[in-house]
Amino acid sequence: MKKIAIVFVAALCLASCGQKETKSTAAPSPQDFPYMVEQFADLGILRYRVPDFESLTADQKALVYYLTEAALWGRDILFDQNCKYNLQVRRTCEALYLNYKGDKTSAEWLGFETYLKRVWFSNGIHHHYSEDKILPECSQEWFVQACQEANVEIPEGLLRVMFCPDYLAKKVNSETGQDLCLTSACNYYENVTQTEAEAYYEAHKDNSPEPMWIGLNSKLTKDADGNVIERVFKAEEGGLYSAALQKVVENLQKALPYAENEQQRLVIEKLIEYNITGNLKTFNEYAIAWVRDLDSRVDFVNGFTEVYGDPLGITGAWESLVNFKNMAATERTKALSDNAQWFEDHSPIDQRFKKAECKGVSAKVITAAILAGDCYPATPIGINLPNANWIRKSYGSKSVTIENLTEAYNQASLGNGFNEEFMLSDVERECAKKYGAHMSDVHVDLHECLGHGSGQMLPGVSKDALKEHGSTIEETRADLFSLYYMADPKLVELGIVPDMEAYKSQYYHQMMNGAMTQLVRIEYGKNVEESHMRNRALISNWVLAHATPGAPEAEIVERDGKHYMQVNDYEGLRRLFGELLAIIQEVVSTGDYARACQLVDAYAVKVDPQLHREMLDRYEPLHIAPYKGFVNPIYTPVFDKEGKIIDVWLDYTEGYAEQHLRYSRDYSNLPTINE
Ligand code: ZN
Repeated sequence: MKKIAIVFVAALCLASCGQKETKSTAAPSPQDFPYMVEQFADLGILRYRVPDFESLTADQKALVYYLTEAALWGRDILFDQNCKYNLQVRRTCEALYLNYKGDKTSAEWLGFETYLKRVWFSNGIHHHYSEDKILPECSQEWFVQACQEANVEIPEGLLRVMFCPDYLAKKVNSETGQDLCLTSACNYYENVTQTEAEAYYEAHKDNSPEPMWIGLNSKLTKDADGNVIERVFKAEEGGLYSAALQKVVENLQKALPYAENEQQRLVIEKLIEYNITGNLKTFNEYAIAWVRDLDSRVDFVNGFTEVYGDPLGITGAWESLVNFKNMAATERTKALSDNAQWFEDHSPIDQRFKKAECKGVSAKVITAAILAGDCYPATPIGINLPNANWIRKSYGSKSVTIENLTEAYNQASLGNGFNEEFMLSDVERECAKKYGAHMSDVHVDLHECLGHGSGQMLPGVSKDALKEHGSTIEETRADLFSLYYMADPKLVELGIVPDMEAYKSQYYHQMMNGAMTQLVRIEYGKNVEESHMRNRALISNWVLAHATPGAPEAEIVERDGKHYMQVNDYEGLRRLFGELLAIIQEVVSTGDYARACQLVDAYAVKVDPQLHREMLDRYEPLHIAPYKGFVNPIYTPVFDKEGKIIDVWLDYTEGYAEQHLRYSRDYSNLPTINE
């Protein structure tokens, strides 16, 4: 805990001494970049680079700038959506944090500091992943005393909100048999039972062919007569969250003159109109315009989007992500999808299961410029929108991978001691360091652009034939397709991988992770459950079981009482991946459920308890935070005399607490309790 405080002070000090790095638009190289910011509780905070920002035109930079401003103004909304008292807790704790003059080395203070940092991370008082209430690591007595000394007023009821474990215990309750609206602490339903909410949505359902998503942008509550009413999130008068949404609108209006083309202008115009009126028909028009905006370099998500935070899965949590196309990586996925037929024709599977005509998916790879709302600080590394199925069907969807965030995850993990503990030797570690980050991107590209789309079912075979093993087997198939081809000279020829050594980083990682190290994510005594983890276990364990007797391509070896993965023959490993791909493709193409059960049962589920114990025991002392999140860069516009933006500077030096305090100071205008 002490370490955290030191890191924090250093960050603040840097800011107050004015010793920030020279401002520029270019991102420092990965080698010099300080990816790790700090670590506390179960959380690790990272920085991400925004490479190639300097390649944007001045207008594109200006567009990014105003979109990031529009993004940051939504922060309070999400806090309030997550729980009605979140802003109250945040503001009270921030006031104490800024005004406390007592001993800042005491365990109570450090416990309080960690609590506030966790509240910032979760956008509220519930854990972002488990959704359980976070309890302060300081005592209530200390907190009350400290607030008194610092002249910070404690609002009525706040102590219960913060310190009582049973009150508002779970953000989203999904226990069947309970009233999910009444027992969830999130703020989408107030004095409204689940039955009343469902009846309301049923009565207001839009049954037209292009339906509005009723409830996407509103909270259900009751009027004075006890009737269920909808409070719509909108900027115009009477709207819930209107003050924050007005600032969002204001910045979208400033972004508008910098739109890259007519289609993007339409997207922004429709979003402004929707934010003002809350009209869901306008939202549909916006979503369709957004899906059709494919040519712009800059793109963004801004608004009420994912519905996981609502126990009934209807209302969207506010989020924003501003990004621009990563040209080099997008070229890479295009090269793959342009050659989809070549890959299909050369696949090591039975001719009957190959597609005569194969079309790859060209995915867009993006660079995130800002993360906000439900995308911040914890964030997805891929996005696939819109959520409305009829829009996806008729107009398509956009799917992206966010490469500068995966880069940050990969780079930060290099120094955490994991590879030192679990990899066999420096040979594997050096290979991972040199090729790991790039090859894991290539792995994702091959898996998504080609793997899932490859092969075909025999006539009459149902898509659901493999039942509960369907997704494990399908993920195995896509991963094997990718593993098989990343070692193909074709990829060097296409310029996607640098040389014939690069694939070894992924091969080693697959074998070690699938058979051994992924067990650290499973509680002792449990089996492998999640389908991607099962797929990785299946591949590694099948390969180990089918390695050549006497001269195994890969094996688990023991050194000084510890077990390691050893790969003896990488080319032989590729042959085995190909053999397993042929088997898995046959299972899928013929819908062979019995064989799927047999493969999953033999290789994907069961855990060797001794190996599991060893992995957990070796992992624990590394103190690696299981959850990661980010701080954003700061964007500073440079104006000419006419007030037009001519450049935007990037600054990566802001610390975690510093950033949250600044956001709370500069982007916060909602009432503490929103009614
Ligand atoms: Zn997949």
